Amino acid sequence: MALLIVEDNATLSASLARGLTEDGYAVDTVDSGLAALRRLDRQDVDAVVLDLGLPDIDGVEVLVQLRSRGINAPVLVLTARDGVKARVDALEQGADDYLVKPFEYAELLARLRALLRRAAAPRWAPLSYNGLVLDPIELDITIGTQRVRLSPREHALLALFLRRKGELLRRDDILVQVFGYHFEPGTNLVSVHIANLRKKLRDAPIVIDAVRGVGYRLRAREPSDG
Ligand code: CA
Repeated sequence: MALLIVEDNATLSASLARGLTEDGYAVDTVDSGLAALRRLDRQDVDAVVLDLGLPDIDGVEVLVQLRSRGINAPVLVLTARDGVKARVDALEQGADDYLVKPFEYAELLARLRALLRRAAAPRWAPLSYNGLVLDPIELDITIGTQRVRLSPREHALLALFLRRKGELLRRDDILVQVFGYHFEPGTNLVSVHIANLRKKLRDAPIVIDAVRGVGYRLRAREPSDG
């Protein structure tokens, strides 16, 4: 398992690299955002540990860039920034988990293992509905001959809807199932991701309806939907 650590604090980076190497991972380190992008363009890794406060470009920008380049390795964000907004920003841009500094090495290791396990073992067969197929491993949906790339969160969101098609999913249930955290009930995380997913489903044979004040429901597209 190859890991990339993106961290400009040399002491922290070295201690993480030492620990993770002892725990059996092949570890590479870089100390800036641009170096991370260059490194990830060259070679795939199994997971990335990404500090947000980097000297050149912000860690969130690194996330945006690597997701837009189709790099789908799980990303564990390290942040000194407390508060919900920084965490929501990172998750919205495709982070899979985060740790707030200072943290215990044991917790980082446990979270990293969980991410790698989730990434390695698809828990379902391809899901399909009304001619749309969701690939369980690749972040792609197939609509006829067309393939559309999803972010990891959009993929998780659509998988949930496909498993429970036709059911009314409450916004708070979606939040817990897809994001795994108990954010404030007022967070717009779910609606932001659904808006993005709907854009990608413009030509799809399925529609996500909003049920005002409650949540969302997936159904087959009708001719009257246009
Ligand atoms: Ca830093």
